[in-house]
Formats: sequence, structure tokens, C-alpha cells
Amino acid sequence: TKSSAKPVANPWILAIAPYIPGRSTTDDGRKVIKLSSNENPLGTSPAARAAFAGAANQLERYPDASATELRDVLAAKHGLDPARIIYGNGSDEVLHLVAGAFAGPGDEIIHVRYGFAVYEIATRRVGATPVIAPDRDYATDVDAILACVTDRTKLVYVANPNNPTGTYSARDEIARLHAGLRPDILLVLDHAYAEYIDGDAEDGGMALAESASNVLVTRTFSKMYGLAAERIGWGYGSAEIIDAMHRIRLPFSITIAGTAAAVAAVADTEFVDNTRGHNAEWRRWFSDEIGKLGNAGLRAVPSQANFVLVLFEGKLTAEVAYKGLMDAGYIVRWLPGQGLPDGLRITIGTADETQGVLGALRDLVETAG
Ligand code: PMP
Repeated sequence: TKSSAKPVANPWILAIAPYIPGRSTTDDGRKVIKLSSNENPLGTSPAARAAFAGAANQLERYPDASATELRDVLAAKHGLDPARIIYGNGSDEVLHLVAGAFAGPGDEIIHVRYGFAVYEIATRRVGATPVIAPDRDYATDVDAILACVTDRTKLVYVANPNNPTGTYSARDEIARLHAGLRPDILLVLDHAYAEYIDGDAEDGGMALAESASNVLVTRTFSKMYGLAAERIGWGYGSAEIIDAMHRIRLPFSITIAGTAAAVAAVADTEFVDNTRGHNAEWRRWFSDEIGKLGNAGLRAVPSQANFVLVLFEGKLTAEVAYKGLMDAGYIVRWLPGQGLPDGLRITIGTADETQGVLGALRDLVETAG
């Protein structure tokens, strides 16, 4: 009847499982140590903080919609063409833009089984179909991805290092993936954690984005640069890819204060070097310590990111450990909704936090017997 009629959302939108962010409080509202969102435990560059504060006198102004200064700074830092840089409200927006510009109903977009949740949301949002490639012991399996390609494949999302597994595909694997894809399939290489790779190595993605016409690399200020609150992400690809994405971009999705902080953060190489060194040291320590709990069924998936996926294959289950850690004052990420009921993703925190969460895990192992 007329009175019961109401707007109905697109069915492909209702098929989306909403993104669940990392929590910062317990069920009973206690604020505890947050190791659930891969944020920078060392905070933010002091220079970036100062630049952010300095933007307070421009609140009535719209941001520079073309982000000229930010693009110039990034281009100089990474040796890129500033005209081929896209930017957005976190790399999340950039990941959405590329699906919006290149895929639609009837198209397929491939991502790996244990992949970043936004890929599936961005895929369904445009009415495309997610195709899920199996992993190889939690790592990205290039052959499995290539085996998923059909005539309908439009795009492949690969995070390297991958979230939530932390696994890394070396340069030759990424080259093999790119070489195995038809040139009309867009390869999106998500480098959100690229700065954390041992020795600051690179998977060759930027060089591919520079020379190939079907590669987009995305990056973020949320992790290594400690600016998650300010939502600045960017991407690099061919002039044609970037042009298409600009057409659907929100005009003012990055802010004056965030941009100012990002520009200052790029210049503060000392802060980045400290973060990288801290993370490498404590990631190694934490993974080694988890390894010592192997007889209790705990296992650390080898990580090149700022977090470690710990698998629970013994008496102590991931679910019990998740709740026990919460009681002990640590929030980590349990991802049963992403097909990972047996794992906890734990961000590398400060020295105290990392030692603390390991100690709490050891206690839980002992209690479980
Ligand atoms: N890609 C991956 C793999 C991530 O883990 C994240 C952060 N959770 C992002 C992209 C998005 O980060 P942001 O939007 O803060 O740039």
C-alpha cells in the first residue's frame, strides 16, 4: 500500500558486511591499551603536530582542492610525476575511487582470502562481484590469484605487506603477478605498510606504477607517519588511471590541517627512521617470544608489517585469549568475521606495551594448562 512504501537500498549494497573498526574500550567501557588498529605507538612527528596546530587560523577556508603542495612534496620524496598522484580521505577513499572508476555491475574484482576488509566493501559498493583467491599458509598466492582471472575480471587488490596476515610478497612475485595479468586488468598494490618492510626494501610496485599502464600503488599517512586521525592517503598510477579517479573524487576530502601535517611529516625523516627501527626490533622480539610458546600451539605468521598475526592451534583458543587479553587491559584484533577465528592480530606497541601483552599471553597459556 501507499503508506507502507519506502525507499529500498540497492540489493548489492545490502550485501555488504559493514566494516568493523578496531575497538578502543572494553565491553564495560574501560579504556585499555589499544593494539587493534596498527597505529603508530610512538605517536606523531612533533613537526607534523606543530604544522597541524598552525592550520587553526584557516578554518573558514576550503582546502586546496588540487593538493598541489602535498603532491609536490610526495613527488620530490619518491621521484614521481606530481600530475600522476591522486589523494583521498585515507587510502580507504583511494581504494574506493579506483573501484568506482574502473568496475561496475557484472565485473569481478579479485582479492585474497585473508585480505583487507575494505576491498570487498568497495567491490560491492559499485555492484561488482568479489572473487576470493585462496592463500598459501596465510601468504598471498600469486598462482591462486591468476587462477581466479576470468573474462569479467577488472581489478585485483593486493596489499603488500598484507593485512591482517603481515605477510610479504617479494619483488619477483609481484612482477610475476603483473606479468600474468591481462593488460586491461588493473592491479592495485596497497602499500599501507610498505615502509615497515625489513631494510626499507620495496616490492617494485612504484616502478611498475611508473612504467605500466595498469598499476595503481596506494599509500597512507596513517601508519608509519602516525597521522591516522587526519585521514590522508594517496595513490600513483598512469595519467589515465588518475584522471578517471579525479572525476569521481569528492572535491575537498582532505583537510588543510591534515595536509599541513602530512607535508611536515614527510620532511621529518628522523621520526620515520625511529618508528621503523622500533618496529623492526619489537616485531622480531615479539615473533620470537611467540615462537617459544609453540608447544602450547601458538604460532606467529612471519610479518613485515607493524603487527603480527598470532595463530592459536592448541588448548588456548584465540577467542579465550582475546577475552583474557581484554581483561588484562589489552585490546587486540580478533577477526572471526573475516574467516580468521583462530588468529589474533596484534599491533606492535611501545616496548612496555609489547612486553606487557606478551606477558599477559604467557599467563593465559599457563592458565589454559
Ligand atoms: N590498506 C590496508 C591494507 C590497511 O590495513 C589500511 C588501514 N587499516 C588501509 C589501507 C587504510 O588506511 P587509511 O585509510 O587510514 O589510509
